[in-house]
Amino acid sequence: MIITEVLSVGTELLMGQIANTDAQYISKRLPDAGAGVYYHTVVGDNDRRLAGCLRAALARADIVITTGGLGPTQDDLTKQTIAREFGLALEEDDESRRRIDAFFAARGKQATVNNYRQALIPRGAEVLANDHGTAPGCMIRGTGEYDGKTVIMLPGPPGELRPMFEKYVMPLYRELAGRAIVSRFVRICGKGESEVETILMDLIDGQTDPTFATYAKDGLVTVRVTASGNTEAEATEKADNGTRAICRLLGDNVYSLTDEEPEQTLIRLLKARGLTVAAAESLTGGMISQKLTSVPGASAVVCAGCVTYTDEAKQKLLGVKPDTLARFTAVSAETCREMAEGMRALSGADIAVAVTGYAGPRVSDEPVGLVYIGAAYVGNVLVKECRFTGSRERIRALTAVNAIDLTRRILLNNADFNA
Ligand code: ATP
Ligand code: MG
Repeated sequence: MIITEVLSVGTELLMGQIANTDAQYISKRLPDAGAGVYYHTVVGDNDRRLAGCLRAALARADIVITTGGLGPTQDDLTKQTIAREFGLALEEDDESRRRIDAFFAARGKQATVNNYRQALIPRGAEVLANDHGTAPGCMIRGTGEYDGKTVIMLPGPPGELRPMFEKYVMPLYRELAGRAIVSRFVRICGKGESEVETILMDLIDGQTDPTFATYAKDGLVTVRVTASGNTEAEATEKADNGTRAICRLLGDNVYSLTDEEPEQTLIRLLKARGLTVAAAESLTGGMISQKLTSVPGASAVVCAGCVTYTDEAKQKLLGVKPDTLARFTAVSAETCREMAEGMRALSGADIAVAVTGYAGPRVSDEPVGLVYIGAAYVGNVLVKECRFTGSRERIRALTAVNAIDLTRRILLNNADFNA
């Protein structure tokens, strides 16, 4: 195992102004790379304290990954401090200077003098080009006192750090570990994290290769399956076997085998079938349409969306009957059904999804978390009653995700939908 320490540099982190999501990202990825993490260190933009943390980290880790402090301003001192600790002079890297010029030229601007500070690289260090910003990263392989130790410096902005980490750092670990490592993602909707873990218990327990890691967020569970092997093919086969075992246990609760969101899966399925969708939303206020239209190419399959918050809007826009509202209220299976049917008629979509429910906070005796999700399609209407818990935001998020997932299930279970 390659012991790695993440050393995050930034006073903003110490002051609590930003959360250390860079360290979180790196730590989540390292087990896949055959590395172990024992320490995260955070230090402010201070030369002396950074030098102290670096020495401590080098004494207990093989690789130190620093984040932040590579930018053009005076408080960005990571490279300067680390170069000095390694006894290396800073030299301008021609390619990095050219990239900085190109970065500004593409924006119709000129680099200021301090921008070129970023092109300074410790002598002999490997430059890690930044495709999403101006500050390149770099890697020093230690000699002498630091023989066998490596320091990798990455920029702070997550949009720059993550692609650099994937492009340069993961391959380095694979090379060091001397083994091929393959990860697969199984994405699940419709079961909670503990339920998924219980179902997968026998599979996960005591398993070291592949390993299974579960993450949960807003009604979705992701299982990452990671396998290693002497060859890429061997690792791939092990990982795929693990993935198939999960699919057998979870059936159609698995919505994707790539790292995609439910809306991406749904749009893909709709496109493949040549079908269109529309959404009528009450408590989610447009979240479903927002998710659907966030997927590139959604225009081929998303035809309309409607936010009908009041009873009047539900009547006027969707044709929900006053009698239905009076007898069953706005939060009922009956209203949800008429919302879906009305949306389908209004939009001409092949499938219309509708949601109505109580997001909270509680007023009078409404059952907060009671939600109806319905879908109307070729002469059919399906309405599902759900009981969600948590905050208003969570109830809304769960409603949106489950509405999209219900639509996916309807598509899957109606192969001859086009009829
Ligand atoms: P820049 O070239 O933008 O100055 P930098 O490498 O010098 O990049 P910092 O100046 O330390 O990085 O931080 C720049 C921004 O990057 C911060 O304002 C913050 O938004 C983000 N950032 C920095 N460190 C982290 C971290 N550990 N986790 C998440 N975001 C971070
Ligand atoms: Mg900076």
